[in-house]
Amino acid sequence: MTKQQEVYLEGHPVSRGIAIGIPIVLDSFDTKAPETRLSDDALEGEITRYRRALKKSHDDIVRLKGELAREGVKDGVSVLEAHLQIIQDPLLNEQIEQEIRGTKRTAEYVFQVAIERFRKKFQALHDPFFEQRFEDVHDISKRVLAYLRDMKRMHLNEVPMNSIVFTHSLTPSEAAEVSRECVQAFVTQVGGSMSHTAIVTKAKGIPYVANVNFSKLNAMHSITMAIVDGLSGKIILNPTEKTLAQYRELKATMTMQVEELKEKVVNTRPPSSGNRAQNGIQVRLSANVELSSDFELLSQYGAEGVGLFRSEYLVLQRGYFPSEEEQFGIYKDLVMHMQGLPVVIRAFDIGVDKVVCNLKGGREVNPALGCRAIRFLLREKELFKAQIRAILRASLLGNVRILFPMISNLHELMEAKQIVHEAEAELKNEGHALLSSPKLGCMIEVPSAALIVDLLGKECDFLSIGTNDLIQYALAVDRDNQQTATCYNSTQPGVLRLLRMITSAAKNVAVPVSLCGEIASDPRFVPLLLGLGITELSVSCRFLPIIKHCVQHIKKEYAEALTEQIFAMKSAKEIYETLAHEYLKNMAVAMRGKAMPTNTQYDFTMY
Ligand code: PEP
Ligand code: MG
Repeated sequence: MTKQQEVYLEGHPVSRGIAIGIPIVLDSFDTKAPETRLSDDALEGEITRYRRALKKSHDDIVRLKGELAREGVKDGVSVLEAHLQIIQDPLLNEQIEQEIRGTKRTAEYVFQVAIERFRKKFQALHDPFFEQRFEDVHDISKRVLAYLRDMKRMHLNEVPMNSIVFTHSLTPSEAAEVSRECVQAFVTQVGGSMSHTAIVTKAKGIPYVANVNFSKLNAMHSITMAIVDGLSGKIILNPTEKTLAQYRELKATMTMQVEELKEKVVNTRPPSSGNRAQNGIQVRLSANVELSSDFELLSQYGAEGVGLFRSEYLVLQRGYFPSEEEQFGIYKDLVMHMQGLPVVIRAFDIGVDKVVCNLKGGREVNPALGCRAIRFLLREKELFKAQIRAILRASLLGNVRILFPMISNLHELMEAKQIVHEAEAELKNEGHALLSSPKLGCMIEVPSAALIVDLLGKECDFLSIGTNDLIQYALAVDRDNQQTATCYNSTQPGVLRLLRMITSAAKNVAVPVSLCGEIASDPRFVPLLLGLGITELSVSCRFLPIIKHCVQHIKKEYAEALTEQIFAMKSAKEIYETLAHEYLKNMAVAMRGKAMPTNTQYDFTMY
């Protein structure tokens, strides 16, 4: 038997962890169909195959359209009608058949070329209406292509158990839908480490490496096994027995460490006012939640509240905005799970990579600076009010707070509050026994909001810093773009000064500040955040044990002194290295009872 050669790929580690499994390569629409030449007698068969793919796509859409019509999703129905018109277009189909005959190329090749022509034509018009039309064309063509590829394109939720999924790109809703048993890890060609896809994979505990060049993978005849090292970003195809044994051991060690830590800290339930320990630190450790299927994790990981419910995932998963009634059911469920602990429900933060196909307004040239979050909600007031009504109704059952996303000026906050007041008045008129208004808060994730915390703080009950966006807008770096990942730097003195500006202005107006961005789940940042006076850290459930452990081992004086030291530094690198060094020195020792290995590649195996 010939010995298998190990092949290495490399990318950016996005979600930590080790996975060992069977590789599944998902075809992507953007994978070019080969330019295979057909023999003359194969041409009519090819055309029949094309017509069959169209028919199957047509039947799918008619069925889907019926379902949406029954659910009353009018916008969705009109999108599907547009899709039907496209695949029934006689001119397009005649042209494709002629080209199959004329060029003697496969249906998928000709079809893909035709769609590309469409894209160029529509783009040249520089008109948002036509850009939106192209979205429809693109969407329906994916379906037709899938059938042309003989359904070789496996849907993500059909991948078998223990798969390592290699795919061109991944959306947050795709990541949200997969089953943890089936997908052991993701490897993609593109993707940013601060993207919402990254957040979902971390929340689900699925290792993920992005920005990997697939050329070696595509050239291989058979890959029977793959290891994804989500700590270093390395991928090993066809590993040898020796490599497998090493990674099995590392994986087992990590699992054991995580379980031990979970056991150790989860059962220390907090006093209702938060985690006041002997070390003088009072901070609530809450959870960020995206999916209703994760409600169970909240008690398993000892969350002291929900610091951020990203309600927009309800929309992403369905592809439409759920009704007030449907939302009420979900919010109620969440509130009941938390048994009186605070639950912060953020109004839909729709936009950028969190989009549904039927949003009015079409695609924007620069969506991160476009009609996102509160801007969208204040434009679509009916949708906004329906959500607020659902939250207010759920607030009768527990300790609910409402959070407004992407506030950039006082006017937006006042308008959002007005909607809440209107919804309250409506509900009271309808006989609902609303006793007191829930607490209202605003996200501080835009630099202009950070600069007016004194004004915003007087008009709301709490603030929540969204560092994921705050860093992107402060440094003018796209959080989703891996090309600029090195510029997306949480330890830039400019970012840290913004954080300090927020916490000290909030202190002046006596408003509590929580932090729900991803840096809250990085144990290296814990002393700095506590030193800044943050009163609540909100992280994905799986990060709660490590963060709780750090909080329990930090003294107030130490956190404050380290923070002073950090603010005297001028470079992001120096700050980062100091935080990492301090973590290794103090926390890791406390965690394992012995010093961590100096090998920095694995210096944070714990999370
Ligand atoms: C943030 O921006 O830090 C945040 C928590 O919101 P999201 O990641 O959902 O944009
Ligand atoms: Mg944000």
